[in-house]
Amino acid sequence: MHEASIAMGLLNSLEELAEKENAKKVVKVKVRIGKLSGIVIDSFVFAFNALKEESPKLKETELIVEEVPLKYRCRECGEEFSCETVFFPECPKCKSINLELISGEELEVVNAEIEV
Ligand SMILES: [Zn+2]
Repeated sequence: MHEASIAMGLLNSLEELAEKENAKKVVKVKVRIGKLSGIVIDSFVFAFNALKEESPKLKETELIVEEVPLKYRCRECGEEFSCETVFFPECPKCKSINLELISGEELEVVNAEIEV
């Protein structure tokens, strides 16, 4: 259960945040998950919602997940583009396959809303 340990890590840092800010609860948290991060979003949300029950400050926290598409930069012409495929994508401008992946692997917290 890869997703459960990631959800746990997120809950721990939210707990710390609530503690630090002296918050009554965390209302919302928004995260960004890349398509190539290997995280199954449904499992992640499920794990988050199951685990948050244990914490009084987090049990009402709404988790919002934004899925980040794959994004490439062409090494030939510098074009940046989003693409659904990881298998042999090519530059829409110059058809080069000499590409660099610039997003799609991340897991990051965009923001959190707390109530004090
Ligand atoms: Zn190109």
